[in-house]
Amino acid sequence: MSCAGPCFQHASRTAPYTHSMAAFRCSACQTGYDETTWPRLALVERIAPDDVRRYASRWPEGVCVEVRRCSACGQSIATKRRQAK
Ligand SMILES: [Zn+2]
Repeated sequence: MSCAGPCFQHASRTAPYTHSMAAFRCSACQTGYDETTWPRLALVERIAPDDVRRYASRWPEGVCVEVRRCSACGQSIATKRRQAK
């Protein structure tokens, strides 16, 4: 006998992708980006930790601010990133 009805063996793998998985989100149009798609966006500005401290008195070591342009609406998105060594 072969499996005639719907097979539930792999049902959990068909869960749809949800935007809550996105690591980065555009505040203007809510488009989400992850670790794969984020680096593909046009880089606007990268602010080194020492420069951020001019504006923020408390700032974690080795964290820079990266600003990239949203590919959907063109809005700049700023996010904290570990500084590349
Ligand atoms: Zn956007």
